[in-house]
Amino acid sequence: MKYPHLSLKRANEPYMAEMKAVAAEVIEGGWYIRGKYVSQLEELLCQYLGCRYAVATGNGLDALRLMLRAYIERGVMQPGDEVIVPSNTYVASVLAITDNRLVPVFVEPSVDTYNLDTSLIEQAITPRTRAIMVVHLYGRACWDETLKSVAARHGLKIVEDNAQAFGAVSSVAGLQGSHHTGALGDAAGESFYPTKNLGALGDAGAVTTDDREVADVVRALGNYGSAVRYVNEYKGVNSRMDDLQAAFLLVKLKHLDEENRRRVEIARLYTESIDNERLILPQAGEPGEHIWHQYVVRCTERDRLMRYLESQGVGSLIHYPIPPHKQQCYREYNHLHLPLAETLAHEVLSLPMSSYLTDDDVHEIASIINRFA
Ligand SMILES: *Cc1c(COP(=O)(O)O)cnc(C)c1O
Repeated sequence: MKYPHLSLKRANEPYMAEMKAVAAEVIEGGWYIRGKYVSQLEELLCQYLGCRYAVATGNGLDALRLMLRAYIERGVMQPGDEVIVPSNTYVASVLAITDNRLVPVFVEPSVDTYNLDTSLIEQAITPRTRAIMVVHLYGRACWDETLKSVAARHGLKIVEDNAQAFGAVSSVAGLQGSHHTGALGDAAGESFYPTKNLGALGDAGAVTTDDREVADVVRALGNYGSAVRYVNEYKGVNSRMDDLQAAFLLVKLKHLDEENRRRVEIARLYTESIDNERLILPQAGEPGEHIWHQYVVRCTERDRLMRYLESQGVGSLIHYPIPPHKQQCYREYNHLHLPLAETLAHEVLSLPMSSYLTDDDVHEIASIINRFA
């Protein structure tokens, strides 16, 4: 395959030497979990995002589920309460909700952004609604005045699934004044899974928030429910970050903005050079709002397009082929009809996207797409 959807080896190539050096430092340092590299990463995540607290977790799903669990432990939410979530998202957003015995209420996306349509939120609110989970899908910030005012009017928390958009900024300020996704709402879950824009070399995640209570409870929950050794306040889990992953992330965080700028350029090149009426191209939004975790096109003949691209040496992936409410594990929601999420699941296709792509690569992929008849 000349153009795989993503080669992690190539994506990490520029950092190999530096990562090997810090790996040796960590190994020789003799402290491997929640050590000084993790603390330093937590500090830099706060600086970068403009928030007060960051708590490193084992992965992104744990970040999301422990963030919601913290609200339950603090009495802000109770099992059975409802959380509004976009119908068009990765299943992990919903797993974090149901893992806490909270109830997902699916709201359809906007056809322009593929993100939660904030004009549809208010009609989905009931007396049991406690939170709105926004997902900055594909790297595009989902944040606007409507969202802020609906949440304020109904006293709802806004939580962010920022797994795909670390580094994106909204033109509309967040609740505490930051413009960075991950620091817009009341609390956020980050993922540093290797394929994400800021990717580790293994599983890693974080909760970021301005809420001291949420941060403290998440930190204890990820450590068996214990803040003071051998004293257990909560029935916790084990979800902590390795210093090795933190050290790798510290190396890559320095280059993230530059990487994301290259993704923006690649997306612009795709949009300029793809010219095929069978495809609908994604919209960029305001400057900085989209950091292109994925460049996702729509095509009614998606499966045929995917096979054609493969035959031409271009790898593509479907994000995502089955919406959460149609998954087997969510039989109780299978009867729901959420037409836009279902249509997107049949039509979306993610093209190769990584900062290592050259202009020539993008032009060649575009001209292969333009020959799809
Ligand atoms: C990757 C991802 C997650 C989960 O993160 P992990 O680190 O893989 O556990 C959650 N939500 C979305 C939208 C994701 O893309």
